[in-house]
Amino acid sequence: MAGRLRNGGVGYPAGECQLKYHRLMARTMRQPSLPQISYSPRELIEEVRARSFPALREPVELFFGKIGSLAFIRRPLSNQNATIFIHDIINRPDTPMPVLRFVVLHELLHLQIPPREIGRKRTTHPPEFWTVERQLAPDREECWAWIWLSFHSHLVHDEKKEQTRVKRTWVKTLGVALTEWETACQIVANDSQYRGIHEI
Ligand SMILES: [Zn+2]
Repeated sequence: MAGRLRNGGVGYPAGECQLKYHRLMARTMRQPSLPQISYSPRELIEEVRARSFPALREPVELFFGKIGSLAFIRRPLSNQNATIFIHDIINRPDTPMPVLRFVVLHELLHLQIPPREIGRKRTTHPPEFWTVERQLAPDREECWAWIWLSFHSHLVHDEKKEQTRVKRTWVKTLGVALTEWETACQIVANDSQYRGIHEI
């Protein structure tokens, strides 16, 4: 949910950050964290793909790890397989399934709606991205509410890089009870003006 297009790739930050991300990606692919969620990553991807991206044919892999941001997708070239990376902060059995589905949906949408130039700035989330995301994920506000309620002091929204960074302090959330999914839904339902931060 971050970064700029390079050689047809999507998903990770440009510039000096690339080396860091390459290292993080390589390490995560070499030694991914064991999924702690109730689905297998493959089932999760297939479910989202079948429901929202039936035309997407290419294989997509998913790895959990300590990746620096909440999630991103990497496809080195447009004809190559894509890989989704999701941070361990939400790799836990009590993460609501709607949140995991939403994160995967957001990442897969990057394959369908590529980054483009707006003015002089290359953006990974052009307006049409948000339009389609709203159509495909009507519960996106609830998902963001849950993410920020659960992890607010361990996340940093980086508007410039279009990503949500995960601070090293995230380890303090291990073993700590998270916000109930119903609580996040209630907050959004009670506040029709509720608008969280919407970048992953
Ligand atoms: Zn994104």
